[in-house]
Amino acid sequence: MKSTKFGTSVSNIPLIAHHFGSEGPKILILGGVHGDEVEGVVCAQALLSEFIEDFPYKLQLTLVPMFNVDGVLHQSRKNKNGVDLNRNLPTNDWTNDVAEERYYPGTAANSEPENQALTAWLEENNPKLIISLHSWKPLLNTNGDCHPEADIISEMTGLEIKESIGYPTPGCLGTYTGLERGMPTITYEIERGMSAPEVIKMHVPAIKKALFATQERK
Ligand SMILES: [Zn+2]
Repeated sequence: MKSTKFGTSVSNIPLIAHHFGSEGPKILILGGVHGDEVEGVVCAQALLSEFIEDFPYKLQLTLVPMFNVDGVLHQSRKNKNGVDLNRNLPTNDWTNDVAEERYYPGTAANSEPENQALTAWLEENNPKLIISLHSWKPLLNTNGDCHPEADIISEMTGLEIKESIGYPTPGCLGTYTGLERGMPTITYEIERGMSAPEVIKMHVPAIKKALFATQERK
């Protein structure tokens, strides 16, 4: 395992990425895009711990457990500039016309340092799968062909697979990578309020099993 600086937050805190494996398809797992969705951070940290013990895959995996580190430290959905990072990516449908303050997309697409680091990494690495760990009502929101992995996770957790969550999300990661760049993306919504031990027991084994399917991606 190697750890690197993935980027820097608005508060100048380093975003740390952990890298596992040296051959096979590239995959990115993000936790904490929304800093108040701690269930995703718990899951990402538990995956990190498991992979330090054993990484049994032919995969090149990059794991960023606290992508919005300022938000995590302040228990805030948004980053230090008050921007929802999952509405700020430079998608074709990006708009600063926002219905609710909690989805504030920033003054311009890709204006935020966290997202600038992410888009640069994506362009350089072209991952075959992305999993972004959130919490809300439990579901797997898939953009692009995520079926090998989503089917396994759904079977093990009971989470429903949905290609749309029912309302527009301009500037979100699933659109940017899954729909516009051919990088299949699972926005993984863990049940909000689930205890840390339950998150670890239910979701970590499901993701670990699904990653064996990712090995087969070309
Ligand atoms: Zn979220």
